Amino acid sequence: AISIFWFRRDLRLTDNAGFYHALKSGHPVLSLFIFDKNILDKLPEDDARVTFNYQTIEDLKKDLQAHGSDLLVKYGKPEKIWSEILGDYEVAAVYTNHDYEPYARERDDNMAEFLTSEKIAFKTYKDQVIFEKNEILKADQTPYTVFTPFYKQWHAKLNSFYTKAYPTQKYYKNLLPAKNLPLPSLKEMGFEKSKLNFPKLSYKSKLDSYAKERDFPALDSTTHIGLHLRFGTLSIRKAVRDAIEAKSNIWLSELAWREFYMSILWHFPYSAADSFKKQYDKIKWRNNEDEFKAWCEGNTGYPIVDAGMRQLNQTGWMHNRVRMVVASFLTKHLLIDWRWGETYFAEKLLDYEMASNVGGWQWAAGSGNDAAPYFRVFNPELQTKKFDPKLEYIKKWVPEFGTKKYAQPIVEHTFARERVLKVFKAALANS
Ligand code: FAD
Repeated sequence: AISIFWFRRDLRLTDNAGFYHALKSGHPVLSLFIFDKNILDKLPEDDARVTFNYQTIEDLKKDLQAHGSDLLVKYGKPEKIWSEILGDYEVAAVYTNHDYEPYARERDDNMAEFLTSEKIAFKTYKDQVIFEKNEILKADQTPYTVFTPFYKQWHAKLNSFYTKAYPTQKYYKNLLPAKNLPLPSLKEMGFEKSKLNFPKLSYKSKLDSYAKERDFPALDSTTHIGLHLRFGTLSIRKAVRDAIEAKSNIWLSELAWREFYMSILWHFPYSAADSFKKQYDKIKWRNNEDEFKAWCEGNTGYPIVDAGMRQLNQTGWMHNRVRMVVASFLTKHLLIDWRWGETYFAEKLLDYEMASNVGGWQWAAGSGNDAAPYFRVFNPELQTKKFDPKLEYIKKWVPEFGTKKYAQPIVEHTFARERVLKVFKAALANS
């Protein structure tokens, strides 16, 4: 009999919790990846994340081949694929890592039931985060809903036990000898290769200046590791160890923001679709489609907003400060439902992460996990003065800025501010 390690969003051999436990299971280990039709069917054929995922799988396959084994790559719906696999192999146990999104939880619950009925053990491990589920709770055992106290406990609990690497390399001899296992092509799965460039995994040089420079979008001073954390080509334990070594506390706290939002999504899965503060679903959004289109395309006449949207459209990434500005602009200046913006980001961002994206959008709309009151409305002009004082970022992404060709402002700032305050006040009056 064999053990199977099912790779999902942990696409690396080193420092991988579930893979480590599989290698120590006492059975030879077959590695598996499934291109999940349930997920892929919803994506456009040139989706860049699929290309990145695919290239990563090719690399992983080569790595396993270098150790005399191979990666079995399947394409289809997991439940069907697993029935096929159990027909082909005698399986003693299936190992994998925890996954916290609503779809993944349902999939894994079904898997657990199915495998148990086949008398096969299903073992899953924490790998994607330092702390999960109920590890960080308030004294009364309920989850934190505000970041600062969450982070205080997260940081206090952090020690080398939680950040040490799983030494998988010691056990590669336990991989199942294999060769010529299949790999469906991108084309067979209905996708084409994206032309976008993917960020390289080299971030250490950014950590020293991060605290000072991270808020200025013209300086390319953040690490671009989001995509790598999303697919697990970087271990979160390694990132945290590097943050500690570089004494980059602000960057460490950003990694904790990621876990905070994952914790929110885990404890409050409804917040993926509904406002975290439910009374915010009473807001009467204007949802004007032409204005939404102008926002998407970067033609609002607000240069910092347009620069951000064009950076997103052209590269699949947008600077964090600008993400906050464009999200505030859509929800507050244009009174468009945060879910519209969230969906657009989810299509475009290479580093799309459901928990962080929903969290970031709800934070901007005021409906989420924020201690500040809803009447904070970002002023795009002031944000520009503070964070792009020389207009370098704006000029890079909006070359026609300052010419007659540039769009007129889609709405006047003071008018928009008063309008949103009125609409929000009406919706939230009784809360
Ligand atoms: P760095 O600044 O170098 O930070 C390192 C890592 O820390 C990031 O890669 C990310 O994993 C984590 N991180 C940093 N800031 C945050 C934050 N505020 N919340 C959660 N995690 C954080 N981040 C995503 O990873 N995926 C998303 O889909 C996403 N959507 C967002 C939507 C909105 C409206 C807003 C305001 C923020 C969103 N963020 C999202 C958070 C943040 O903007 C990005 O993580 C960051 O800009 C990614 O760039 P970087 O990798 O260079 O980050």
